[in-house]
Amino acid sequence: MSEREINKRLQKSIAVIVCCGILLLAGGGIFVYFLSNTLQEAIGVNMQEETDEYKKRIHKQFASDVQLLESLAELIGSAGLTEREEFPELLEQVIWKNDFLTMSYVGADGMGIVVMSADGVQEDVPLETMQEETRAVAEKAFKGEIGVSRLFLSDFSSERVLAYGVPVYQGQRIIGVLMASSHVGIFSDILSGNRVMGGTGRIHMVSSTGQFLIFTRTVVADPPESLFGEPYLEGEELSRIQELLKQDQQAAFSFQHEGTRYRALLEPVGINGWYLLCVNSIEESSHFVLMVAEGAAVLLLAVMLLFSFLLIYGYRLTRNGNRALFRLAFYDPLTGALNFAGFRREAKEALEADPEASMVSLNIHQFKFINEILGKERSDQLLKQVKEQADKELTDGELFCRTSADHFYLLLKDTDRTRIWERMTRIMDGIQPAAAGEHDDYRVLFYCGVVVSSRKETLYSMDQMQTHVMFALAKARERHQNTIWFFDTKLHEKEVMDNYVEGHMNQALEAREFRLYLQPKISLGSGQIGGAEALVRWIHQDGKTIFPDQFIPLFEENGFCARLDLYMLEQVCRRLREWTDAGLEPVPISVNQSKLTFFMPDYVNRIMAIVDRYQVPPRLLTLEILEGTALENVEVMNKRLESLHKKGFRISMDDFGSGYSSLNILGKLKIDELKLDRGFLMEAAAGENPNAGLIMEQVVQLSKKLAISTVVEGVETEANEQLIKGLGCDYGQGYLYSRPIPEEEFTERWVSRAKETPAP
Ligand code: C2E
Ligand code: CA
Ligand code: CA
Repeated sequence: MSEREINKRLQKSIAVIVCCGILLLAGGGIFVYFLSNTLQEAIGVNMQEETDEYKKRIHKQFASDVQLLESLAELIGSAGLTEREEFPELLEQVIWKNDFLTMSYVGADGMGIVVMSADGVQEDVPLETMQEETRAVAEKAFKGEIGVSRLFLSDFSSERVLAYGVPVYQGQRIIGVLMASSHVGIFSDILSGNRVMGGTGRIHMVSSTGQFLIFTRTVVADPPESLFGEPYLEGEELSRIQELLKQDQQAAFSFQHEGTRYRALLEPVGINGWYLLCVNSIEESSHFVLMVAEGAAVLLLAVMLLFSFLLIYGYRLTRNGNRALFRLAFYDPLTGALNFAGFRREAKEALEADPEASMVSLNIHQFKFINEILGKERSDQLLKQVKEQADKELTDGELFCRTSADHFYLLLKDTDRTRIWERMTRIMDGIQPAAAGEHDDYRVLFYCGVVVSSRKETLYSMDQMQTHVMFALAKARERHQNTIWFFDTKLHEKEVMDNYVEGHMNQALEAREFRLYLQPKISLGSGQIGGAEALVRWIHQDGKTIFPDQFIPLFEENGFCARLDLYMLEQVCRRLREWTDAGLEPVPISVNQSKLTFFMPDYVNRIMAIVDRYQVPPRLLTLEILEGTALENVEVMNKRLESLHKKGFRISMDDFGSGYSSLNILGKLKIDELKLDRGFLMEAAAGENPNAGLIMEQVVQLSKKLAISTVVEGVETEANEQLIKGLGCDYGQGYLYSRPIPEEEFTERWVSRAKETPAP
């Protein structure tokens, strides 16, 4: 994995983590929001429950006190107890038993008895002198209702008290009222200002008109008389609440005081129009939620930080590890240059960006010996010098690498051969002095192969460049001085072909892939066929045809031509035999014989063996030898010609005029036929050189005198035919009549039934 890829992955991971973080934070936010909502709801419920509890307790106490008074009132009325002397004592006993502060009885005349828990009994106390709150209760009771006072400070006990009063009946008539006051122990919590709701809330009692009845330590330091006003209720909110209270309904509101927000619940007690007021600070009650939220946020942040830290740490670790691995995998430890893997990697990228470039493979000539002569250390030094020199030449984006021992590759942006030549020469020349020293006379030689990939010529892929540069290098290696060899596509194709041909020729011969093709030779006088030339075609198994110019020159070099020529001669003989056997008129056939074949020591015997095997008269065979072959050694040649003539073969000199032809040769060599090279005709036909026709005419005339028949090759048009006819040539051969065609086709088209020859 490359550093770039790691970076990409890291960026991806960071993006994922950031996304996760955002999601987590959002989730956390939503969670905290819901938690806070739920908590607020729970607080609301809690406030309600606590308030209800107080309400219940008030009711219970109230109910028991009022019930006691009622039953006592009934007893007093029915038994006429008020008349009795012990009536005050009775009341005293009730006080003691029920924890009342005072008890009083006021008769219809408005005079009453007041019994106090601490101070004994006061008799004949006029109602008017009693405390206002007591009076109010009495008045209510006289009307037949149960009276309950608001809380007030008792004159007798200096305690906050509550007074109750019930009517005392005698029959249907109210004869007085029985009252009791009790210190409101039941409200002790409220009174003492105890906090409710786990300490964050307070509970007070207010009247339906907003008056604070029972309260200590309200949230407002200097508590106002009434709830209806600052900071509790104002404006519209006040009217809304007042409306609700009028209807004896529950009400909830919130208010702000000294920067704190409070929730408040007003719960009707159901007695005297009282309300329980529960106040709770939102901030304080939300404290837990805020703490949870803060904690969650801190935790999240910590987790994310830890994550990021681990990621960056991991990345750095991987990067450093990778760098080390990179160096190992893609660099050469000795020179610090890229190694081959590194070179390939970067060259591929560079070529993708710009395919016009050149690849150079540079080697040191005979490095093994240099190692021995200079020693390992100095040789290593030499290799480092190569890198230094290359570095001097390389521009941005160009590459240099050492693949092994003394093998180097360069990727240059240049495609101009001269520039490449100059640059590589500078590199090679620059290294010479460094290698000198003790062995001053030792000259280090280099050789390098170059392949150029350009749009103007050919664009090569990385792999193609790599293989081609090896071919160029091999060519360069064949020379011995500082050589630079450029890869040549055409040359290479030829080499590839040669390689194929050489590698396959033997099996092709056995597999009968060399086929006999025939091209007719037309008599210009009669227009009739006068013979045919045997031309070889290599038909590969897959049907691909390889033409002779692609393999004959190579076979001449490697000697295979001798085998092929004899093989072809045999094919020709077979064909002649088949014609004869089929009752067809055999057409004389010319067979090309290479110099190698022609000068085989037992050449004549060999061809005779073939001819004899097929029982073919040699006069049907013409041996075509090249002008060059004929010129080699006239005397030896003539001897050979003589023995061939004796056997009955005809001899033709091929390609006359293509080389350094000399008319002299015609007089010296005993040949039967002269084949004028296609070039001759082309030149004469072009009309540019008026001498061409003249020379041709002279050759033909001279040949005639020497009884040599003439054949002109390459007759392609009627005009060509007219031209050579006019020059007096005997035969024409060329595409005008027919291309070389497979022997079977030739048989069909050109070979006729043999004329009945009368028996001798
Ligand atoms: P060549 O002996 O001069 O054969 C004539 C060549 O000219 C043939 O090429 C033929 O196809 C071509 N030709 C014929 N008429 C025309 C024409 O009107 N226009 C043009 N442009 N070309 C024409 P091919 O068959 O490719 O043979 C090339 C050469 O290969 C031959 O030249 C011959 O030297 C050699 N060759 C062919 N077969 C054999 C063989 O069996 N043994 C040896 N040693 N050489 C052979
Ligand atoms: Ca020929
Ligand atoms: Ca020829």
